Amino acid sequence: MHSHGAKSSIANAANSRFGRRSLLKGIGAGALAAGLGAAGQGIAHAEEEALFDVVIIGAGYAGAMVARELGAKGLSTVVLEASDRVGGRIWTDTWAGEQIEVGGQWLAPQHQLVNKELARYNITTYGDPIPDRVIVAGSTGLKAVSPDEAAKLVVPLWTEFYKGSEKYFERPAEPLYRKDLLAAVDPLSLADRIKQMGLSPTEVNLLTGETSVYSGGPSTLGSLTGMAQWYQLAGGTYEAYTNTIGRRPVGGMTAILNAMLRENFTPVHKSSPVTRISDPGTGKVTVYTASGRRYKAPAVVVATSTNAWKNITFEPGLPKAHAQATTQGIGVPHGTKMWLHIKGKIDATTGTAPEGSPILMMVPQKQLADGRLMIAFTGPGLDVNNPVKVQEAVQQWIPGAQVLKSRAMAWGTEKWAAGAWGFRRPGQLTGLFPQIEQPHGRILFAGADIAQGWHGAFIEGALESGLRASNQVLSLVK
Ligand SMILES: Cc1cc2nc3c(=O)[nH]c(=O)nc-3n(C[C@H](O)[C@H](O)[C@H](O)COP(=O)(O)OP(=O)(O)OC[C@H]3O[C@@H](n4cnc5c(N)ncnc54)[C@H](O)[C@@H]3O)c2cc1C
Repeated sequence: MHSHGAKSSIANAANSRFGRRSLLKGIGAGALAAGLGAAGQGIAHAEEEALFDVVIIGAGYAGAMVARELGAKGLSTVVLEASDRVGGRIWTDTWAGEQIEVGGQWLAPQHQLVNKELARYNITTYGDPIPDRVIVAGSTGLKAVSPDEAAKLVVPLWTEFYKGSEKYFERPAEPLYRKDLLAAVDPLSLADRIKQMGLSPTEVNLLTGETSVYSGGPSTLGSLTGMAQWYQLAGGTYEAYTNTIGRRPVGGMTAILNAMLRENFTPVHKSSPVTRISDPGTGKVTVYTASGRRYKAPAVVVATSTNAWKNITFEPGLPKAHAQATTQGIGVPHGTKMWLHIKGKIDATTGTAPEGSPILMMVPQKQLADGRLMIAFTGPGLDVNNPVKVQEAVQQWIPGAQVLKSRAMAWGTEKWAAGAWGFRRPGQLTGLFPQIEQPHGRILFAGADIAQGWHGAFIEGALESGLRASNQVLSLVK
Protein backbone atom coordinates (compact mmCIF):
# COMPACT_ATOMS: atom_id res chain seq x y z
CA MET A 1 0.00 0.00 0.00
CA HIS A 2 2.84 2.37 0.75
CA SER A 3 4.67 1.59 -2.48
CA HIS A 4 6.47 4.39 -4.27
CA GLY A 5 3.89 4.37 -7.07
CA ALA A 6 1.01 4.81 -4.68
CA LYS A 7 2.70 7.81 -3.10
CA SER A 8 3.38 9.44 -6.46
CA SER A 9 -0.23 9.20 -7.49
CA ILE A 10 -1.28 10.81 -4.23
CA ALA A 11 1.22 13.59 -4.90
CA ASN A 12 -0.08 14.11 -8.43
CA ALA A 13 -3.62 14.31 -7.20
CA ALA A 14 -2.51 16.77 -4.56
CA ASN A 15 -0.60 18.88 -7.08
CA SER A 16 -3.48 19.12 -9.47
CA ARG A 17 -5.73 20.03 -6.55
CA PHE A 18 -3.31 22.82 -5.66
CA GLY A 19 -3.21 23.85 -9.32
CA ARG A 20 0.19 25.49 -8.87
CA ARG A 21 3.90 24.92 -9.16
CA SER A 22 5.35 22.41 -6.78
CA LEU A 23 8.93 21.31 -6.31
CA LEU A 24 7.79 18.21 -4.50
CA LYS A 25 9.97 15.24 -5.35
CA GLY A 26 8.27 11.88 -5.89
CA ILE A 27 10.23 10.52 -2.97
CA GLY A 28 8.82 13.17 -0.63
CA ALA A 29 5.24 12.69 -1.68
CA GLY A 30 4.42 10.66 1.40
CA ALA A 31 5.08 13.66 3.55
CA LEU A 32 2.69 15.82 1.54
CA ALA A 33 0.05 13.13 1.47
CA ALA A 34 0.42 12.79 5.20
CA GLY A 35 -0.15 16.52 5.54
CA LEU A 36 -3.40 16.28 3.69
CA GLY A 37 -4.46 13.27 5.70
CA ALA A 38 -4.47 12.43 9.35
CA ALA A 39 -1.86 14.25 11.41
CA GLY A 40 1.05 13.60 9.05
CA GLN A 41 2.26 10.44 10.69
CA GLY A 42 3.70 7.18 9.65
CA ILE A 43 3.90 7.35 5.86
CA ALA A 44 7.32 8.76 4.99
CA HIS A 45 10.43 6.85 6.00
CA ALA A 46 13.09 8.52 8.10
CA GLU A 47 15.61 8.76 5.27
CA GLU A 48 13.17 10.37 2.84
CA GLU A 49 13.53 13.99 1.94
CA ALA A 50 10.75 16.31 0.82
CA LEU A 51 11.48 19.37 -1.28
CA PHE A 52 9.39 22.52 -1.05
CA ASP A 53 9.83 26.18 -1.94
CA VAL A 54 9.35 27.18 1.67
CA VAL A 55 9.26 25.22 4.92
CA ILE A 56 7.36 26.98 7.71
CA ILE A 57 7.89 25.93 11.31
CA GLY A 58 4.92 26.49 13.61
CA ALA A 59 1.17 26.49 12.85
CA GLY A 60 0.29 29.58 14.88
CA TYR A 61 -1.07 32.81 13.34
CA ALA A 62 2.35 33.91 12.09
CA GLY A 63 2.99 30.59 10.33
CA ALA A 64 -0.52 30.55 8.86
CA MET A 65 -0.03 34.06 7.43
CA VAL A 66 3.27 33.08 5.79
CA ALA A 67 1.73 29.89 4.38
CA ARG A 68 -1.25 31.70 2.91
CA GLU A 69 0.65 34.63 1.44
CA LEU A 70 3.36 32.49 -0.16
CA GLY A 71 0.86 29.86 -1.28
CA ALA A 72 -1.01 32.64 -3.06
CA LYS A 73 2.18 33.50 -4.95
CA GLY A 74 2.37 29.93 -6.24
CA LEU A 75 5.12 28.74 -3.92
CA SER A 76 4.87 25.23 -2.51
CA THR A 77 4.75 25.37 1.27
CA VAL A 78 4.58 22.94 4.14
CA VAL A 79 3.98 23.76 7.81
CA LEU A 80 5.73 21.61 10.41
CA GLU A 81 3.95 21.77 13.76
CA ALA A 82 5.33 20.22 16.93
CA SER A 83 2.02 19.76 18.67
CA ASP A 84 -0.95 17.61 17.67
CA ARG A 85 -3.12 20.67 17.05
CA VAL A 86 -2.80 23.93 15.10
CA GLY A 87 -3.08 27.37 16.69
CA GLY A 88 -0.15 27.56 19.10
CA ARG A 89 -1.00 30.12 21.77
CA ILE A 90 -4.52 30.17 20.32
CA TRP A 91 -6.68 27.23 21.31
CA THR A 92 -10.45 27.23 20.92
CA ASP A 93 -12.04 24.44 22.92
CA THR A 94 -15.35 23.44 24.55
CA TRP A 95 -15.77 23.49 28.33
CA ALA A 96 -18.85 23.68 30.56
CA GLY A 97 -20.80 23.24 27.34
CA GLU A 98 -19.51 26.55 25.97
CA GLN A 99 -16.87 27.58 23.47
CA ILE A 100 -13.84 28.81 25.37
CA GLU A 101 -10.43 30.18 24.45
CA VAL A 102 -7.66 28.52 26.41
CA GLY A 103 -5.16 31.06 25.08
CA GLY A 104 -5.65 34.34 23.19
CA GLN A 105 -9.27 35.44 23.05
CA TRP A 106 -10.00 39.08 22.27
CA LEU A 107 -9.77 41.17 19.12
CA ALA A 108 -9.54 44.93 19.11
CA PRO A 109 -11.20 47.35 16.69
CA GLN A 110 -7.74 48.94 16.30
CA HIS A 111 -6.25 45.73 14.87
CA GLN A 112 -6.25 46.50 11.18
CA LEU A 113 -4.83 43.21 9.94
CA VAL A 114 -7.22 41.19 12.09
CA ASN A 115 -10.11 43.26 10.72
CA LYS A 116 -9.01 42.42 7.18
CA GLU A 117 -9.03 38.71 8.04
CA LEU A 118 -12.50 38.98 9.56
CA ALA A 119 -13.78 40.66 6.40
CA ARG A 120 -11.99 38.19 4.13
CA TYR A 121 -13.59 35.17 5.77
CA ASN A 122 -16.86 36.85 6.63
CA ILE A 123 -16.42 36.25 10.35
CA THR A 124 -18.35 38.48 12.76
CA THR A 125 -17.54 39.30 16.38
CA TYR A 126 -19.52 39.55 19.60
CA GLY A 127 -18.86 41.31 22.87
CA ASP A 128 -18.20 40.09 26.41
CA PRO A 129 -20.82 40.92 29.06
CA ILE A 130 -20.60 44.53 30.26
CA PRO A 131 -19.23 44.50 33.84
CA ASP A 132 -21.58 45.71 36.57
CA ARG A 133 -19.01 45.75 39.38
CA VAL A 134 -15.28 46.33 39.51
CA ILE A 135 -12.88 45.04 42.12
CA VAL A 136 -10.13 47.50 43.03
CA ALA A 137 -7.48 47.77 45.72
CA GLY A 138 -8.64 49.73 48.76
CA SER A 139 -6.63 50.80 51.80
CA THR A 140 -7.63 47.64 53.67
CA GLY A 141 -7.88 45.06 50.90
CA LEU A 142 -10.06 44.56 47.86
CA LYS A 143 -13.31 46.45 47.48
CA ALA A 144 -16.15 46.40 44.96
CA VAL A 145 -17.11 49.66 43.24
CA SER A 146 -19.20 50.67 40.24
CA PRO A 147 -17.53 50.97 36.82
CA ASP A 148 -17.82 54.80 37.06
CA GLU A 149 -16.16 54.90 40.48
CA ALA A 150 -13.41 52.58 39.26
CA ALA A 151 -12.75 54.86 36.29
CA LYS A 152 -12.45 57.89 38.63
CA LEU A 153 -9.84 56.02 40.66
CA VAL A 154 -7.68 54.52 37.95
CA VAL A 155 -7.90 56.74 34.86
CA PRO A 156 -5.85 59.64 36.34
CA LEU A 157 -3.20 57.18 37.51
CA TRP A 158 -2.85 55.46 34.15
CA THR A 159 -2.87 58.79 32.33
CA GLU A 160 0.07 59.86 34.48
CA PHE A 161 1.75 56.48 34.05
CA TYR A 162 1.78 56.86 30.25
CA LYS A 163 2.69 60.54 30.26
CA GLY A 164 5.33 61.25 27.63
CA SER A 165 4.59 58.10 25.62
CA GLU A 166 2.92 60.21 22.93
CA LYS A 167 6.39 61.70 22.40
CA TYR A 168 8.63 58.64 22.60
CA PHE A 169 6.09 56.72 20.53
CA GLU A 170 5.35 59.58 18.18
CA ARG A 171 4.72 56.93 15.53
CA PRO A 172 3.72 53.88 17.56
CA ALA A 173 3.63 51.55 14.56
CA GLU A 174 7.29 52.42 13.95
CA PRO A 175 8.53 51.99 17.50
CA LEU A 176 12.12 53.06 16.83
CA TYR A 177 11.13 56.32 15.12
CA ARG A 178 12.16 58.30 18.23
CA LYS A 179 15.11 56.14 19.18
CA ASP A 180 16.70 59.26 20.63
CA LEU A 181 13.93 59.57 23.26
CA LEU A 182 13.63 55.82 23.83
CA ALA A 183 17.20 55.56 25.08
CA ALA A 184 16.10 56.98 28.45
CA VAL A 185 12.80 55.08 28.83
CA ASP A 186 13.41 51.65 27.31
CA PRO A 187 15.60 50.49 30.22
CA LEU A 188 12.70 51.16 32.64
CA SER A 189 10.56 48.33 33.96
CA LEU A 190 6.89 48.84 34.74
CA ALA A 191 7.84 48.80 38.43
CA ASP A 192 10.45 51.54 37.80
CA ARG A 193 7.81 53.74 36.21
CA ILE A 194 5.42 53.24 39.14
CA LYS A 195 8.23 54.12 41.55
CA GLN A 196 8.94 57.34 39.61
CA MET A 197 5.34 58.48 40.13
CA GLY A 198 5.64 58.83 43.91
CA LEU A 199 2.25 57.25 44.67
CA SER A 200 0.61 56.19 47.93
CA PRO A 201 0.61 52.43 48.69
CA THR A 202 -3.08 52.15 47.73
CA GLU A 203 -2.46 53.94 44.44
CA VAL A 204 0.43 51.58 43.71
CA ASN A 205 -1.89 48.65 44.41
CA LEU A 206 -4.39 50.00 41.89
CA LEU A 207 -1.80 49.63 39.13
CA THR A 208 0.25 46.53 39.91
CA GLY A 209 -2.45 43.94 39.16
CA GLU A 210 -2.27 44.91 35.50
CA THR A 211 1.48 45.49 35.33
CA SER A 212 2.24 42.13 36.93
CA VAL A 213 -0.23 40.26 34.72
CA TYR A 214 1.38 41.59 31.55
CA SER A 215 4.90 41.06 32.93
CA GLY A 216 4.03 37.43 33.62
CA GLY A 217 5.65 37.65 37.03
CA PRO A 218 6.85 40.66 39.01
CA SER A 219 6.34 44.11 37.46
CA THR A 220 10.13 44.45 37.38
CA LEU A 221 10.16 41.97 34.48
CA GLY A 222 8.12 43.86 31.89
CA SER A 223 9.18 47.04 30.12
CA LEU A 224 7.40 50.38 30.32
CA THR A 225 7.78 50.72 26.55
CA GLY A 226 5.99 47.39 26.04
CA MET A 227 2.74 48.65 27.53
CA ALA A 228 3.20 52.26 26.47
CA GLN A 229 3.45 51.25 22.82
CA TRP A 230 0.12 49.38 23.01
CA TYR A 231 -1.42 52.40 24.73
CA GLN A 232 -0.35 54.71 21.92
CA LEU A 233 -1.28 52.19 19.21
CA ALA A 234 -4.74 51.96 20.80
CA GLY A 235 -5.23 55.72 20.52
CA GLY A 236 -3.41 57.19 23.51
CA THR A 237 -6.29 57.25 26.01
CA TYR A 238 -7.16 54.81 28.75
CA GLU A 239 -10.63 54.33 27.31
CA ALA A 240 -9.28 53.39 23.87
CA TYR A 241 -6.74 51.11 25.50
CA THR A 242 -9.32 49.18 27.54
CA ASN A 243 -11.37 48.71 24.36
CA THR A 244 -8.68 46.35 23.09
CA ILE A 245 -10.18 43.65 25.31
CA GLY A 246 -13.75 42.42 24.96
CA ARG A 247 -14.61 41.25 21.44
CA ARG A 248 -14.50 37.64 20.30
CA PRO A 249 -14.85 36.12 16.83
CA VAL A 250 -17.84 33.89 16.15
CA GLY A 251 -16.47 30.36 15.73
CA GLY A 252 -13.52 31.09 17.98
CA MET A 253 -9.98 32.30 17.42
CA THR A 254 -9.02 29.04 15.70
CA ALA A 255 -11.69 29.62 13.04
CA ILE A 256 -9.75 32.46 11.41
CA LEU A 257 -6.53 30.47 11.52
CA ASN A 258 -8.15 27.41 9.96
CA ALA A 259 -9.60 29.56 7.19
CA MET A 260 -6.11 30.93 6.48
CA LEU A 261 -4.57 27.47 6.30
CA ARG A 262 -7.40 26.16 4.12
CA GLU A 263 -7.23 28.93 1.55
CA ASN A 264 -4.30 27.41 -0.37
CA PHE A 265 -4.65 23.88 0.99
CA THR A 266 -1.47 24.30 2.98
CA PRO A 267 -0.25 20.89 4.17
CA VAL A 268 0.30 20.91 7.91
CA HIS A 269 2.37 18.08 9.37
CA LYS A 270 1.33 17.90 13.01
CA SER A 271 3.30 16.15 15.75
CA SER A 272 6.45 17.08 13.81
CA PRO A 273 8.76 18.97 16.17
CA VAL A 274 11.73 20.46 14.35
CA THR A 275 15.02 19.78 16.08
CA ARG A 276 17.59 21.14 13.65
CA ILE A 277 17.85 23.61 10.76
CA SER A 278 20.98 23.49 8.68
CA ASP A 279 21.95 26.02 6.01
CA PRO A 280 25.21 24.86 4.47
CA GLY A 281 25.26 27.83 2.04
CA THR A 282 24.41 25.74 -1.02
CA GLY A 283 21.11 27.48 -1.67
CA LYS A 284 19.03 24.84 0.12
CA VAL A 285 18.26 24.63 3.83
CA THR A 286 17.58 21.25 5.47
CA VAL A 287 15.05 20.97 8.29
CA TYR A 288 15.14 17.89 10.54
CA THR A 289 12.26 16.70 12.68
CA ALA A 290 12.47 14.60 15.84
CA SER A 291 11.26 11.54 13.95
CA GLY A 292 14.12 11.83 11.47
CA ARG A 293 12.21 13.32 8.54
CA ARG A 294 14.10 15.80 6.40
CA TYR A 295 12.64 18.69 4.43
CA LYS A 296 14.62 20.89 2.03
CA ALA A 297 13.79 24.34 0.77
CA PRO A 298 15.51 27.49 -0.49
CA ALA A 299 13.85 29.36 2.39
CA VAL A 300 12.75 28.35 5.89
CA VAL A 301 10.54 30.50 8.10
CA VAL A 302 10.79 29.89 11.83
CA ALA A 303 7.35 30.93 13.13
CA THR A 304 7.59 29.51 16.63
CA SER A 305 7.60 31.62 19.78
CA THR A 306 10.93 33.37 20.29
CA ASN A 307 11.43 31.36 23.48
CA ALA A 308 11.16 28.11 21.48
CA TRP A 309 14.08 28.97 19.16
CA LYS A 310 16.44 27.68 21.81
CA ASN A 311 15.00 24.16 21.40
CA ILE A 312 16.20 24.06 17.80
CA THR A 313 19.84 23.61 16.72
CA PHE A 314 20.66 26.24 14.11
CA GLU A 315 23.59 25.69 11.76
CA PRO A 316 25.24 28.16 11.51
CA GLY A 317 24.36 29.35 15.04
CA LEU A 318 21.87 32.17 15.60
CA PRO A 319 23.02 35.78 15.21
CA LYS A 320 23.64 37.73 18.42
CA ALA A 321 20.22 39.44 18.75
CA HIS A 322 18.32 36.21 18.07
CA ALA A 323 20.45 34.20 20.50
CA GLN A 324 20.00 36.88 23.14
CA ALA A 325 16.22 37.05 22.62
CA THR A 326 15.67 33.32 23.02
CA THR A 327 18.00 33.09 26.01
CA GLN A 328 16.41 36.05 27.83
CA GLY A 329 12.93 35.15 26.60
CA ILE A 330 10.24 37.45 25.23
CA GLY A 331 7.34 35.10 26.06
CA VAL A 332 6.67 35.72 29.74
CA PRO A 333 7.53 33.06 32.33
CA HIS A 334 4.17 33.04 34.10
CA GLY A 335 0.96 33.36 32.12
CA THR A 336 -1.85 31.29 33.54
CA LYS A 337 -5.37 31.76 32.32
CA MET A 338 -8.08 29.99 34.32
CA TRP A 339 -11.71 29.47 33.36
CA LEU A 340 -14.09 29.32 36.30
CA HIS A 341 -17.66 28.10 36.50
CA ILE A 342 -19.13 29.81 39.56
CA LYS A 343 -22.45 28.63 40.95
CA GLY A 344 -25.60 30.74 40.81
CA LYS A 345 -26.41 34.19 39.49
CA ILE A 346 -23.17 36.14 39.77
CA ASP A 347 -22.55 39.84 39.04
CA ALA A 348 -20.45 40.47 35.95
CA THR A 349 -17.30 41.19 37.95
CA THR A 350 -14.03 42.54 36.60
CA GLY A 351 -11.00 44.37 38.01
CA THR A 352 -7.48 43.83 39.25
CA ALA A 353 -5.88 42.94 42.58
CA PRO A 354 -2.40 44.03 43.72
CA GLU A 355 0.75 42.23 42.62
CA GLY A 356 1.25 39.11 44.76
CA SER A 357 -2.48 38.30 44.92
CA PRO A 358 -3.53 34.76 43.95
CA ILE A 359 -5.89 36.16 41.29
CA LEU A 360 -4.63 39.32 39.60
CA MET A 361 -7.33 40.01 37.05
CA MET A 362 -10.84 38.80 36.34
CA VAL A 363 -13.03 39.16 33.27
CA PRO A 364 -16.70 38.16 33.34
CA GLN A 365 -18.00 35.76 30.71
CA LYS A 366 -21.43 34.27 30.04
CA GLN A 367 -24.07 33.80 32.75
CA LEU A 368 -25.39 30.25 32.30
CA ALA A 369 -28.50 28.74 33.86
CA ASP A 370 -26.53 27.21 36.75
CA GLY A 371 -23.72 29.70 37.17
CA ARG A 372 -21.41 32.25 35.55
CA LEU A 373 -18.27 31.62 33.55
CA MET A 374 -15.38 33.89 34.52
CA ILE A 375 -11.78 34.22 33.38
CA ALA A 376 -9.04 34.71 35.96
CA PHE A 377 -5.40 35.54 35.27
CA THR A 378 -3.58 34.15 38.25
CA GLY A 379 -0.32 35.00 39.97
CA PRO A 380 2.57 32.55 40.37
CA GLY A 381 1.56 31.97 44.04
CA LEU A 382 -1.75 30.21 43.32
CA ASP A 383 -1.79 26.44 42.83
CA VAL A 384 -4.45 26.29 40.12
CA ASN A 385 -4.68 22.51 40.49
CA ASN A 386 -5.83 22.78 44.10
CA PRO A 387 -9.64 23.35 44.12
CA VAL A 388 -9.61 24.52 47.75
CA LYS A 389 -7.02 27.21 47.03
CA VAL A 390 -8.86 28.23 43.85
CA GLN A 391 -12.13 28.59 45.78
CA GLU A 392 -10.41 30.66 48.50
CA ALA A 393 -8.85 32.92 45.87
CA VAL A 394 -12.19 33.45 44.12
CA GLN A 395 -13.90 34.26 47.43
CA GLN A 396 -11.50 37.19 47.92
CA TRP A 397 -13.21 38.68 44.85
CA ILE A 398 -16.71 37.34 45.22
CA PRO A 399 -17.50 36.57 48.88
CA GLY A 400 -19.28 33.23 49.30
CA ALA A 401 -18.66 32.19 45.69
CA GLN A 402 -18.81 28.47 45.04
CA VAL A 403 -16.58 27.28 42.23
CA LEU A 404 -18.29 24.39 40.46
CA LYS A 405 -15.20 23.68 38.36
CA SER A 406 -12.16 25.35 36.90
CA ARG A 407 -9.78 24.78 34.04
CA ALA A 408 -6.39 26.44 33.92
CA MET A 409 -3.60 26.49 31.38
CA ALA A 410 -0.11 27.51 32.49
CA TRP A 411 1.24 28.80 29.17
CA GLY A 412 4.57 29.77 30.70
CA THR A 413 5.50 26.12 31.05
CA GLU A 414 3.67 24.74 28.02
CA LYS A 415 6.22 22.62 26.17
CA TRP A 416 6.04 24.14 22.68
CA ALA A 417 5.23 27.75 23.58
CA ALA A 418 8.01 27.74 26.21
CA GLY A 419 6.52 30.98 27.57
CA ALA A 420 3.13 32.68 27.58
CA TRP A 421 2.28 35.83 25.58
CA GLY A 422 5.23 37.96 24.50
CA PHE A 423 6.08 41.03 26.50
CA ARG A 424 9.40 42.78 25.96
CA ARG A 425 11.71 43.13 28.90
CA PRO A 426 13.44 46.39 29.75
CA GLY A 427 15.97 47.26 27.06
CA GLN A 428 14.75 44.69 24.52
CA LEU A 429 13.11 47.19 22.15
CA THR A 430 16.27 49.21 21.60
CA GLY A 431 18.59 46.23 22.19
CA LEU A 432 17.05 43.69 19.80
CA PHE A 433 15.31 45.73 17.11
CA PRO A 434 15.53 45.91 14.14
CA GLN A 435 18.13 43.08 13.97
CA ILE A 436 15.70 40.51 15.37
CA GLU A 437 13.53 40.82 12.24
CA GLN A 438 16.41 40.25 9.85
CA PRO A 439 16.91 36.92 8.04
CA HIS A 440 19.77 34.66 9.03
CA GLY A 441 20.84 33.72 5.50
CA ARG A 442 17.98 31.63 4.13
CA ILE A 443 16.39 31.24 7.56
CA LEU A 444 13.71 33.83 8.36
CA PHE A 445 11.79 34.60 11.54
CA ALA A 446 8.15 35.46 12.25
CA GLY A 447 5.99 35.60 15.37
CA ALA A 448 3.99 37.99 17.50
CA ASP A 449 6.88 38.25 19.95
CA ILE A 450 9.03 40.09 17.40
CA ALA A 451 6.36 42.25 15.75
CA GLN A 452 6.95 45.98 15.31
CA GLY A 453 3.44 47.07 16.22
CA TRP A 454 1.02 45.04 18.34
CA HIS A 455 3.78 42.80 19.63
CA GLY A 456 3.51 39.88 22.00
CA ALA A 457 0.07 39.64 23.46
CA PHE A 458 -1.88 40.16 20.23
CA ILE A 459 -2.45 38.02 17.14
CA GLU A 460 -2.29 41.30 15.18
CA GLY A 461 1.48 41.18 15.76
CA ALA A 462 1.68 37.59 14.55
CA LEU A 463 -0.09 38.60 11.32
CA GLU A 464 2.16 41.63 10.87
CA SER A 465 5.34 39.61 11.33
CA GLY A 466 4.03 36.90 9.01
CA LEU A 467 3.48 39.47 6.25
CA ARG A 468 6.95 40.90 6.77
CA ALA A 469 8.56 37.43 6.65
CA SER A 470 6.58 36.55 3.49
CA ASN A 471 7.92 39.64 1.75
CA GLN A 472 11.44 38.75 2.87
CA VAL A 473 11.02 35.23 1.42
CA LEU A 474 9.79 36.67 -1.88
CA SER A 475 12.87 38.86 -2.23
CA LEU A 476 15.07 35.88 -1.38
CA VAL A 477 13.60 33.39 -3.83
CA LYS A 478 12.61 35.68 -6.73
C1 LIG B 1 -3.17 33.22 27.90
C2 LIG B 1 -2.99 34.06 26.68
C3 LIG B 1 -3.89 35.06 26.42
C4 LIG B 1 -3.76 35.86 25.28
N1 LIG B 1 -4.72 36.76 24.98
C5 LIG B 1 -4.74 37.33 23.76
C6 LIG B 1 -5.86 38.08 23.33
O1 LIG B 1 -6.84 38.20 24.05
N2 LIG B 1 -5.84 38.63 22.08
C7 LIG B 1 -4.79 38.45 21.23
O2 LIG B 1 -4.82 38.96 20.10
N3 LIG B 1 -3.70 37.73 21.61
C8 LIG B 1 -3.66 37.16 22.85
N4 LIG B 1 -2.61 36.41 23.23
C9 LIG B 1 -1.42 36.39 22.39
C10 LIG B 1 -1.57 35.52 21.16
O3 LIG B 1 -2.12 34.28 21.53
C11 LIG B 1 -0.20 35.34 20.53
O4 LIG B 1 0.38 36.60 20.30
C12 LIG B 1 -0.24 34.64 19.19
O5 LIG B 1 -1.13 33.55 19.20
C13 LIG B 1 1.16 34.19 18.82
O6 LIG B 1 1.16 33.64 17.52
P1 LIG B 1 2.52 33.14 16.87
O7 LIG B 1 2.16 32.55 15.58
O8 LIG B 1 3.52 34.22 16.91
O9 LIG B 1 3.10 32.02 17.89
P2 LIG B 1 2.41 30.70 18.45
O10 LIG B 1 0.95 30.83 18.52
O11 LIG B 1 3.14 30.37 19.70
O12 LIG B 1 2.73 29.61 17.34
C14 LIG B 1 3.98 28.96 17.25
C15 LIG B 1 3.78 27.50 16.90
O13 LIG B 1 5.08 26.90 16.78
C16 LIG B 1 5.01 25.58 17.29
N5 LIG B 1 6.37 25.14 17.62
C17 LIG B 1 7.16 25.51 18.66
N6 LIG B 1 8.34 24.88 18.58
C18 LIG B 1 8.32 24.10 17.48
C19 LIG B 1 9.26 23.21 16.87
N7 LIG B 1 10.47 22.99 17.39
N8 LIG B 1 8.89 22.56 15.74
C20 LIG B 1 7.66 22.76 15.18
N9 LIG B 1 6.74 23.60 15.72
C21 LIG B 1 7.07 24.25 16.84
C22 LIG B 1 4.08 25.72 18.49
O14 LIG B 1 3.53 24.48 18.89
C23 LIG B 1 3.04 26.70 17.96
O15 LIG B 1 1.95 26.02 17.37
C24 LIG B 1 -2.68 35.63 24.39
C25 LIG B 1 -1.74 34.63 24.67
C26 LIG B 1 -1.89 33.84 25.80
C27 LIG B 1 -0.89 32.76 26.07
